[in-house]
Parts: sequence; structure tokens; C-alpha cells
Amino acid sequence: MILTVTMNPSVDISYPIKDFKLDAVNRCKETSKTAGGKGLNVSRVIHLMEEDLLATGIVGGFLGRFIQQELDETQIAHHFYEIEEESRNCIAILHEGMQTEILESGPTITTAQEKAFLNTFHSLLDGVDVVTISGSLPNGIDPLFYNRLLDECYEKNIPVLLDSSGSYLKEALNHPHKPYLIKPNLDELKQLTYQEGNQLSTLDLIEVLEHPLFEDIPVIVVSMGKDGAFVKWQEHYYKVDIPPIPVANPVGSGDATIAGLAVAIKHHQSPLDTLKTAMTTGMLNTMEEKTGYIDKTKFNHYFNQVYIEEI
Ligand code: ADP
Repeated sequence: MILTVTMNPSVDISYPIKDFKLDAVNRCKETSKTAGGKGLNVSRVIHLMEEDLLATGIVGGFLGRFIQQELDETQIAHHFYEIEEESRNCIAILHEGMQTEILESGPTITTAQEKAFLNTFHSLLDGVDVVTISGSLPNGIDPLFYNRLLDECYEKNIPVLLDSSGSYLKEALNHPHKPYLIKPNLDELKQLTYQEGNQLSTLDLIEVLEHPLFEDIPVIVVSMGKDGAFVKWQEHYYKVDIPPIPVANPVGSGDATIAGLAVAIKHHQSPLDTLKTAMTTGMLNTMEEKTGYIDKTKFNHYFNQVYIEEI
């Protein structure tokens, strides 16, 4: 089974408002409210790939119950640690082709709640083949908390796919118990290694991935949107090309990529097939309006068009 971790899930509210006015009343007819957070996108795509999963993390209050109810409706198994403080709302106002976002920071987690979640996490690991950890941490929690999850997985020899950024990722890379895989996009990679410039050549990418920070990370997938990915898999480097596709909404494509990676790693697919699976789930998400959604019937068609070259 795959265990997905979302520490600060949200209720994502979208307000399409054609003619959005500042300092005025804006009315909205077609509001949509869904359970959100990167880890929940990962969960949805794994579920659409018809794989067993369990979603975990911390939820709270009325909004936490809404999130769990949404997962029930889509038949995604979950076991969250529940607190009283409300989970967060994330609001996107869609206007004139733009998206203005208001993101609440969510509950502040106490030390006791943090410990209690760690116990929950520990108790869920039996029978788990792969763990995915996505996104940032809520306020109050130890900024090194992901390292505690890595410790637990190390004890049980479970590979961890970590999709986070900034200090959360950096601290995990410096931790003795490493994630098995990380998936920075190009911007995140540049941020991590203080690289400047828009374009990175293949040679630049190899040089960046030889940075001591990445030593002992078995798999690094640098996702590059329409340009596919550049990958370091143990001592091998791969350039992954994908076909042009009709783009509907690329939001959540990185999460869909993580879902594909988790499914393939769970099934011990070869490195090349794993990368093809991941690129395909990423592309399928990009072709849909809904975030964290794929049409599995198109899987084989796109899988067969992913081209991988070893560098
Ligand atoms: P993130 O969402 O983390 O920034 P990317 O934008 O790199 O990640 O997208 C992840 C994957 O989704 C890509 O490697 C690719 O497979 C697919 N993808 C994303 N955007 C596009 C696009 N415009 N055209 C084709 N595939 C895309």
C-alpha cells in the first residue's frame, strides 16, 4: 500500500468572477469547494490509477470533517489525526484570465499534537510499501518534522518520496536518513543550489545534481513542465522527453507525477518504466481542468510516447 502524507490540507474554494472589482462587493454564482493540498492531489491520482492507498496528516474542526467527507465520497481511504482547531481555507479568485489567491496559514500545531501525530504515523506503517510526503508544514510544528518521518520509515526500510521545497527539503537532504526520491521542479532546484539564469543546459544540470547536497539521494527527478524531466537515478543520468499535449490546467501536475512515481516504485518497475509512468500521470493531469485528476483510459497512448535518453 502507498501512504500519502498531507500535513496542512485545505478546503480549496474557487470563485470565478468575470469582472472582479477591488474595494467593492463582488458576487459569485458558481463557487466550487474541494479538499485540497498537494498530498491530496497525489492521493486522488493514485486512486485513479486503481492502487491501494491510505491518506494521512492532520485535519481539524468543521473544515477537517469536510475534507474527510470529500475523501469518503471518492472512496479514498484515510486516517488523519484530528484536532479541534480549524483546517485552512485556500481561496482562488479567477478573474480576467488571472488567479488571485488568498491562502490561510491553517492551525498552529502544539508539541503534544505533533507527538500524537507521530504515534499515528508509526502505527500506520505496517504493510506500507511506499510513503509520499508533500507540501509544507503547518505553523507550530518542528521545522525538522519531516526528518522524524524519515527516521520512522528508515527503521522499517520504507522508501520515502519527498516533494517539498525550501528549508523543509534542505533539512531532509542534510539528514542522515535520506528520502529515496525527491522531485524538485527547475525553480526549486535553482533555489536549493543558488543557481541563477533561466536556461540550464544538460551539462549545467549534471553539475548541479553533483552538488554535495544530493549525495546519497538515490533518485532525483527534476520536472520541467512541457520539457519533461531531467533525472539522476543512482549513477545514471536521463533526459526524458514528452510529446506536445493539449494543456487544460497544469496545476497539480507535479503532484500527479509523484503519484505515478509512487505507483511504479511500489510495483518495482524498471527505472525507465517508472519515469514513463510518472511523466504520463503528469501529462494526463495537465490535460484536465480538474486538479489532481487523470483519465486512465489515455494512459497507454501517452506512456508509449515518452522518450528517454541516457546521458
Ligand atoms: P510542478 O507542478 O511540480 O511545477 P511540472 O510543471 O514540472 O511540475 O510538471 C510535472 C510534469 O507534468 C512534467 O514533468 C510533465 O510530465 C507534465 N507537464 C506539466 N506541464 C506540462 C505541459 N505544459 N505540457 C506537457 N506536460 C506537462
